Amino acid sequence: MAIIGKNLETACELLIAGGVVAIPTETVYGLAGNALSEEAVDKIYTTKNRPKNNPLIVHISDINYLQEYVKSIPLAAVKLSEKFWPGPLTMLLPKGSPVIDGVTAGLPNVAVRMPAHPLTLELLNMLPFPLAAPSANPYGYISPTTARHVNKQLGDKIKYILDGGPCREGIESTIVGFDDEMAVIYRKGVITPDDIKKVTGSVKFNQNPEHKHITSGMSPSHYSPKTSVCLTGDINNLNITLPSENIGLLTFKNTFPITSRRKQIALSPKGDLAEAAKNLYEALHKLDSMHLDLIIAEYVPDEGIGIAINDRLIRAAHKIIAEENHINKK
Ligand code: AMP
Ligand code: MG
Repeated sequence: MAIIGKNLETACELLIAGGVVAIPTETVYGLAGNALSEEAVDKIYTTKNRPKNNPLIVHISDINYLQEYVKSIPLAAVKLSEKFWPGPLTMLLPKGSPVIDGVTAGLPNVAVRMPAHPLTLELLNMLPFPLAAPSANPYGYISPTTARHVNKQLGDKIKYILDGGPCREGIESTIVGFDDEMAVIYRKGVITPDDIKKVTGSVKFNQNPEHKHITSGMSPSHYSPKTSVCLTGDINNLNITLPSENIGLLTFKNTFPITSRRKQIALSPKGDLAEAAKNLYEALHKLDSMHLDLIIAEYVPDEGIGIAINDRLIRAAHKIIAEENHINKK
């Protein structure tokens, strides 16, 4: 198992030696390495078992570093960074020469973000390089939102987990690219399309199927527990044959009589979508460890941050019932 601690010097030493360290961010925990080192970037891919065609996000601590790693910055990107950094927004910008091809998987853009976690910002300030960091989970599995989640999933492969407590936001960053000055959303996240539109004046969703293929955050199956998940908009009218009585429920705010209370998790009993996002992955980790035969999950209201929660639920699900009725197709 890895060591879990708050020692920035230890994390620094391992990273400078070309190793990988799990780091906290406000979204999910990341598996970080030197973004300018082939060796470190290679280790990130092998530790996660992540396909090499799936690029990594580069984390910086100061907006002044942005121009070192990208060739040009649209005005819309400047405005978004002023509004949302540090924070859960990743921007795709033309890759500058110091960024190695391994980070971008040979793509012309590099994904950059300034995370809003004091420990990780301090760590970045101590290092002479930016950190490449995808989520600290084996490829395709549920993202980690605590140091314990990381240890359970990758503890036998890494030495150190920098413990910054449970992640405040709980789901991955919104990824935005640019079509000239038009903001294009590649992955839904904590920052909503409306939040972006307020800053840039316009926003659209990426429709390019080629890109959907390369972006894990957009692949149809991702963020999945090992237990089968069935997603529905109406738990009271389930039109499926249940495999047994050993069923778990993941609901927005209510409980239901179809299984024991012990096997039910409401993401936010008071009906708060931000709280639901924060609790989503912890709930999936918990239900996945209960040896259930099936997890039935319920859509949350498809508004604000609920849009991103539903996006993750759809990718986590193995079976979806009546999706059209409950989700605005975006
Ligand atoms: P993760 O950090 O595990 O959430 O994964 C990062 C996400 O950002 C993945 O879905 C990547 O495909 C996407 N991403 C990172 N860099 C790029 C890039 N240069 N172009 C397009 N998508 C990217
Ligand atoms: Mg990930």
